[in-house]
Amino acid sequence: VSPPEEPRGLERPREYFRRALARRRLSHAYLFLGPEGSGKRRFALELASTLYCSRGEACGQCSSCLAIVHCNHAAVTVYGPEAGKSLIDIDTVRSLCERSHYARSGAFVAILEGAEALTGPAANALLKTLEEPPGNFIVILTAASSGALLPTLVSRCHRIYFSGPPCDDPAAILPEDVLAELARPEFFARYEPRQWLSRAAPDAALPEGRHSSRERVRYLLRGLLAAARRKLTSSSGADLDPNLDLLDRLLELRSSLDANVSPDLVFERCLAIFGAAKYP
Ligand SMILES: [Zn+2]
Repeated sequence: VSPPEEPRGLERPREYFRRALARRRLSHAYLFLGPEGSGKRRFALELASTLYCSRGEACGQCSSCLAIVHCNHAAVTVYGPEAGKSLIDIDTVRSLCERSHYARSGAFVAILEGAEALTGPAANALLKTLEEPPGNFIVILTAASSGALLPTLVSRCHRIYFSGPPCDDPAAILPEDVLAELARPEFFARYEPRQWLSRAAPDAALPEGRHSSRERVRYLLRGLLAAARRKLTSSSGADLDPNLDLLDRLLELRSSLDANVSPDLVFERCLAIFGAAKYP
């Protein structure tokens, strides 16, 4: 069996942590954001391996690296919803916090997957630990977007974005002129948004018989997400944060559309967010 192919887009997080480790400036809390399959878990384990690898390079072959990959390293634990449950409750967070106190030598790395599933009390308990973290404690939360997380928890974490594979589906690429129209300050003076939507997401681009405004907004969002990912890939330095924010907010909108929020409302927010993001 060949090893699973490495997700694309790990270069930036790798470079970030290479520098942070060289300066010995690791944070107590990270939030790894990105879509399913973008390598968040894999990278979290790789980071933990870098801290414990006997060769100091996440070799993937020494006893420490192997223990981490197989989730039986004493100082690295992966948490998530317990078997049969869909939420991460306060007991899980308590055991995470208790374990952190036993890590006297070296760091204790807690990886908490799917942080969207934290219950309110669990998120608050975690927040308390992050406010006064024990000395060598690193918690890595992973989530698809920060929208469903407690804002105070998000603000305590250093965000690292995983872009996932670039979108090469031609059906998801919006024409450049459509994107440019959307970003024009006089958009609302020039266009009637509903008519514009029918043109930006024409019947021919939608699945057979699915021409509702929900399908149109879904199509538009897919194109905006692809554009935002391209923008993020080509940005650096001071551009990074606003572009990250744009992507995060679009992902949040997609979740709300999937959760049956009215397509009109989602479309309205799309216009506001993308227009304000000054594309290109
Ligand atoms: Zn190793």
